[in-house]
Amino acid sequence: MAESSPWNGQFSRFDLVARMGDRPPSIVQVGEVPIGAGFVVMAGPCAVESERQILETAEFVASAGARFLRGGAYKPRSSPYSFQGLGIEGLKLLRKARERTGLYIITEVMSESDVELIAEFADVMQVGTRSMENYALLQKLGGCGRPVLLKRGMTARLDELMHSAQVIAEHGNSQIIFCERGIRTFETATRNTFDIAAVPILKTVSHLPVIVDPSHAAGVRSLVPILACAGAVVGADGLLVEVHPSPEKALSDGVQSLNFAEFAAMMRDLQRYVSLDFSRPEAAEVKQLQLLVVGGNA
Ligand code: PEP
Ligand code: MN
Repeated sequence: MAESSPWNGQFSRFDLVARMGDRPPSIVQVGEVPIGAGFVVMAGPCAVESERQILETAEFVASAGARFLRGGAYKPRSSPYSFQGLGIEGLKLLRKARERTGLYIITEVMSESDVELIAEFADVMQVGTRSMENYALLQKLGGCGRPVLLKRGMTARLDELMHSAQVIAEHGNSQIIFCERGIRTFETATRNTFDIAAVPILKTVSHLPVIVDPSHAAGVRSLVPILACAGAVVGADGLLVEVHPSPEKALSDGVQSLNFAEFAAMMRDLQRYVSLDFSRPEAAEVKQLQLLVVGGNA
């Protein structure tokens, strides 16, 4: 029961997103795909770079079991001299990939002035780590009519993440998915420190689904598959992962992007822990076990 959770005092004040009493976990339904009832993979490049790049990636990740195509058209870059994204041309390419593959589209929105435009093209609106505290954006997303994937700020505590979700919900949109993407610590061997405990904690204190982004946590592709599996084991509802046809030529985040073969191998590894199609009985048992573990914390 959420009532006996050791974290309740800290989180229950965010009443629209906290898990109170017997409230069951929420499912965010995107077309045919329920997020929060099974393991959903969202894959694609960091940024949309060209028609060929995005269509090839979409076709490959769809064939390997992804249900969503990710790809930034508006990129929050640390340097003003880095590739900033293709903007509306990128959105049009994402739409083309959607039509061709049936993948749903998740893409980042950085500014409240872009919300309406991006909502025309995206199935899920991504709020990046740098925007978690952009309250004007969060408020606007309350009325956007699309689910929101809310990434944890790289220096944000979990109660601050819950607060940001509460702002979106207060403004009318409770279709929110949390994303743990690593936080800043003193460790420099990884780009960020993957806070694995965030997953079972959030699933205990909130009714919202939680996915993980091992790409931005690791910052290096060799660690991405193992962190993805770790996320699955602790009960994440899915994965946001960067995949590129030629990572060494990527205009952003190539070092942490998987190539197609690496993505396919990761999808095979993941099926030891979760069912990607709900038809594998042994995977269903693992999922059951995770629910018990999370329930035990509650
Ligand atoms: C991204 O998903 O490419 C991205 C910019 O992520 P984050 O906001 O987590 O850095
Ligand atoms: Mn990226």
